[in-house]
Amino acid sequence: MKQRDWHTDVIVHMPWMSPLPPGIKCDAIRWHSVLHRDLQNWGVGKKNPPCGIQEKSYCNHSAKWHIDFKEDMGPFFRTQNANFCAAHTMIYLNETKAEKVRLYEWLRKNHNLVNKIRFVHGLPEFEWNDHL
Ligand SMILES: [Zn+2]
Repeated sequence: MKQRDWHTDVIVHMPWMSPLPPGIKCDAIRWHSVLHRDLQNWGVGKKNPPCGIQEKSYCNHSAKWHIDFKEDMGPFFRTQNANFCAAHTMIYLNETKAEKVRLYEWLRKNHNLVNKIRFVHGLPEFEWNDHL
């Protein structure tokens, strides 16, 4: 069984995560495709205002989760509470300090639930480590 399957079963219990129906795009930005002019004044004398992040710079996978972020994620998101594909969800759960603290607090409190889910998936017990 793929590792992703037990992650899905765990994430669905996190109160700030909601599963999305198919057909919604991921809000994450692929930064390597963002141009200088998208973010800063550009051209002769820097007279042109920033173009803004272009549609092609957004991830083109379907969103799997809606995330209510703990803190403002800054101006580079379509919404503060973003829709993310599976891969971007994993990245963002660990990306910011506030998200990491919330995730690890939840894991500490729900250690038994996580192990029940892992047991159903035939996985060994998750050893809680306070240094995580
Ligand atoms: Zn994505």
